[in-house]
Amino acid sequence: MDATGTKVLVIGGGPAGYVAAIRAGQLGLDTILIEEGRLGGTCLNVGCIPSKAFIHAAAAFHHAVEQQKTNAFGLSVTSAELDVAKMVQWKDTIVDRLTAGVAGLLGKSKVKVLQGRAELLDGKSCTVESGGKREKIGAEHLVLATGSVPVELPGLAFGGKVISSTEALSLAEAPRRVAVVGAGYIGLELGTVFAKLGSKVTVVEAEPRILPAWDAELTGPVAKRLERLGVTVMTGALAQGLSGGGAGLTVKRPDGSTTEVEADKVLVAVGRKARLEGFGLEKLGLAMGGRFVGIDHRCATSMRNVWAIGDVTGEPMLAHRAMAQGEMVAEIIAGHRRSFDKVSIPAICFTDPEIVTAGLLPEQARAAGHDVKVARFPFSANGRAMTQADEGGFVRVLARADNHLVLGIQAVGAEVSEFASAFSLALEMGARLEDVAGTIHAHPTRGEAIQEAALGALGHALHV
Ligand SMILES: Cc1cc2nc3c(=O)[nH]c(=O)nc-3n(C[C@H](O)[C@H](O)[C@H](O)COP(=O)(O)OP(=O)(O)OC[C@H]3O[C@@H](n4cnc5c(N)ncnc54)[C@H](O)[C@@H]3O)c2cc1C
Repeated sequence: MDATGTKVLVIGGGPAGYVAAIRAGQLGLDTILIEEGRLGGTCLNVGCIPSKAFIHAAAAFHHAVEQQKTNAFGLSVTSAELDVAKMVQWKDTIVDRLTAGVAGLLGKSKVKVLQGRAELLDGKSCTVESGGKREKIGAEHLVLATGSVPVELPGLAFGGKVISSTEALSLAEAPRRVAVVGAGYIGLELGTVFAKLGSKVTVVEAEPRILPAWDAELTGPVAKRLERLGVTVMTGALAQGLSGGGAGLTVKRPDGSTTEVEADKVLVAVGRKARLEGFGLEKLGLAMGGRFVGIDHRCATSMRNVWAIGDVTGEPMLAHRAMAQGEMVAEIIAGHRRSFDKVSIPAICFTDPEIVTAGLLPEQARAAGHDVKVARFPFSANGRAMTQADEGGFVRVLARADNHLVLGIQAVGAEVSEFASAFSLALEMGARLEDVAGTIHAHPTRGEAIQEAALGALGHALHV
């Protein structure tokens, strides 16, 4: 067996690992990255990017279908068809471009990439079988970036008609009837895609409302849109398993009775768990943080020079958090003084309408002891929203009542995902309401609602 030594060994080529490796390479550190699947990890291959491609295509199709009915601004669409197999191919070309781009960036940073499964020997070495030969790699620093996998439900093991988001993003045709188990962001993003493609969608959620991890006020417009799309939402309901004849899903209602939901596919989207097994991690005996690898504010684990980043370290399991941690850890290894002290990790739900949240929610701010001012500005009073024929939703700003420091900004509405950067910038820069209100927001844009919400919190909104 060949033996190689390196300064930095990164295991996992998702957003956490590939960013850590690129940055380490840029800083001149001898770096090896091992990836058993495709570079880009969950995010580029079976997560963020494929789902957003599907959301875009399904929305375009749905829009065309709606125009057939409404003809609101004189656009007449005589027929609309969507070839799902072609949509999948289009998505694949985007994924290919991005993953090839990651390979190119790693090459540019002189990172050596090995394709294969890393098997840890201890906190400083692993073996990998790559390109037909087995190699032992020793490193000064080990970066664990092994990501996460979908959670399986007892009674609904993946296989056959029971699928995870991974299979849902590669189906060659839209199933006639889909049961979505779990009304979190992944279940609802994909459930909405299928509804727009014409599937009969039933969402089964154990909690009393959809998007239980999200602020209830923000999720209201999403619930309404699901209803308009003809999606059946069963809350307080437990998916128990495939029904006897295999025709669908057995669901236990809140009153204890059971019902059958007919389904050609059952998409189980009840969360993701850290990928901790099957590569010798247990040999390291790392301290855990619940079901995840425990880390401190520098992403250091309990073992010296072993770092962990991304989904394997827990919530929020988001690509932008993973990338920020990856960049930071590379810089720490290079000797920079860094710590993960972000004011805000924004979260987006790419449903219809979209939800974006950054910083504290009103009840969190109050629970933290703040006296807060909260103001909302509705898109029904925003010119750009009217010209896009989509006026649902609002922007909500909350700030400390005493010094007007902005503590949180949220929005629900069309295209509000693009607000995430402005929201986070305001929070990281320690903006006051006066800063947001005093910034010229271009007209006509949906972003004017952010300025108006800040003006509203100051007591003098102009357009409402
Ligand atoms: C359907 C879906 C939609 C999503 N949408 C969004 C979104 O819109 N925005 C967002 O921020 N996040 C989104 N996410 C979450 C996002 O994909 C993850 O937060 C992100 O991919 C985490 O990055 P990571 O590098 O930690 O892990 P991963 O992306 O999971 O990468 C880990 C990599 O490690 C590799 N690996 C594991 N063990 C080994 C080993 N022993 N040897 C070699 N390689 C190994 C795996 O093959 C994998 O490629 C979505 C997820 C899903 C499933």
